[in-house]
Amino acid sequence: MRSVAIVGASLAGLRAAEALRQQGFDGRVTMIGAELRQPYDRPPLSKDFLLGTVDTAGLALAEADEYDALDADWRLGVRAERLDAPGGRLLLSDGTQVRTDGVVIATGGQPRMLPGTKDVAGVHTLRTLDDAITLRAALAERPADVVVVGGGFLGAEVAASCQRLGLSVTVLEAMDIPLRNAIGPEMGAVAGQLHTDHGVRLICGQGVAEVLTRTEPGGRRVRAVRLADGRELPADLVLVAIGMRPDADWLAGSRVPVNNGVLTDAGWLTEIPTVAAVGDVARHAAGTSGRRHEHWTSASEQPAVAVANLLAGRHTAHCTCRGYFWSDQYGVRIQGAGSITATDEVRVVEGSPADRTFLASYHRDGVTVGVLSMNMAKAFNRARRTLLPSTEEEDRCPNCSSGAVGATRRGAAEPTSSTPSISA
Ligand SMILES: Cc1cc2nc3c(=O)[nH]c(=O)nc-3n(C[C@H](O)[C@H](O)[C@H](O)COP(=O)(O)OP(=O)(O)OC[C@H]3O[C@@H](n4cnc5c(N)ncnc54)[C@H](O)[C@@H]3O)c2cc1C
Repeated sequence: MRSVAIVGASLAGLRAAEALRQQGFDGRVTMIGAELRQPYDRPPLSKDFLLGTVDTAGLALAEADEYDALDADWRLGVRAERLDAPGGRLLLSDGTQVRTDGVVIATGGQPRMLPGTKDVAGVHTLRTLDDAITLRAALAERPADVVVVGGGFLGAEVAASCQRLGLSVTVLEAMDIPLRNAIGPEMGAVAGQLHTDHGVRLICGQGVAEVLTRTEPGGRRVRAVRLADGRELPADLVLVAIGMRPDADWLAGSRVPVNNGVLTDAGWLTEIPTVAAVGDVARHAAGTSGRRHEHWTSASEQPAVAVANLLAGRHTAHCTCRGYFWSDQYGVRIQGAGSITATDEVRVVEGSPADRTFLASYHRDGVTVGVLSMNMAKAFNRARRTLLPSTEEEDRCPNCSSGAVGATRRGAAEPTSSTPSISA
């Protein structure tokens, strides 16, 4: 293989380029990125950046000399629009083509929107730095009523930041308990309590029926949110945090299988061995989970495995990424790992949920499948290490013969938050 094109110049794309060079690849590396920016870190966008304690420069994922060492051809502000995998060609939105032997797809996703709100002023989503700059400026106008639609991690973090900024916030969650699917109903309830403890109104079990607007000279602006039960909540600013859609439409006609993400094996290779997919867009179908891992550590660790397999031209390494995640809300650090589902039995191992300081473990069919903590990093990391060897088997691809590359056992690699405590 003499050339590799990486589509998506963010965390997973950058890590793929680094892995290529670290693994001795000295051919041509082309980085294609739709955003007109070098890779930056997204987790602070909902936390430190909204609070104004981190600026744009503080989000950089690499230094200038590290970029130089990659010796890559950067095509920023350009989208890949078509992949001709057998022909080894990528067609770009600026009309140019890239000829390549291998492709790494790292295109992440786009936020899901509430229908009919695309052009409504005051309705925001948060995925990119540009989104965050716009949202931060809108919050600086001190909206009287902020409504966050979606009580998942992103919505909860933005609500916590708004509360820290002294704004009045309501979180709307369509399910009966926030984070039910991510951390189960028991711990979801504990996380939900964080909102109410900090004076943030939490309404569960209610979808949004309609976003109500008023007409202004420049167009429509949000004025309220109508719930499914008919209630109207006044809203000057709405943040829609209802998940994301993998950015894979551009692969139509490419023969790369796509189904709620780019389908891969446990080594992040697609059915076409010269095409790998990593990060939020990738969904590996081996094992029982078949899910995408929309977490920073997964996007950071998968590329080393994918690149090893891409360069070998076959599946030689498997991934032991264990879906590690963290979230910072109201001065509480939540950490989780494993393959947690809503029906697992949960046991508090140490500490107390009432104090927001605890370690819990999740069990299915007699096996420990996950761990979760609040403000108990040391105990969590210990527990996570004991968890890995058994749960590793679950996602092991039957074709894998060799060991893992870049395994999670290196430990939590997330950036240390520079956010001061954001408790009330
Ligand atoms: C606000 C926010 C806060 C978060 N906080 C946390 C956290 O606290 N903890 C945690 O574990 N995770 C967190 N995450 C998740 C984490 O940031 C993501 O898992 C990670 O960014 C995924 O990286 P990625 O490279 O796969 O995708 P992305 O970072 O989404 O990058 C994909 C890139 O591909 C580009 N692209 C898309 N289509 C094309 C195309 N056709 N051609 C060229 N380029 C294209 C996009 O423009 C984008 O730049 C957070 C995410 C967000 C948005």
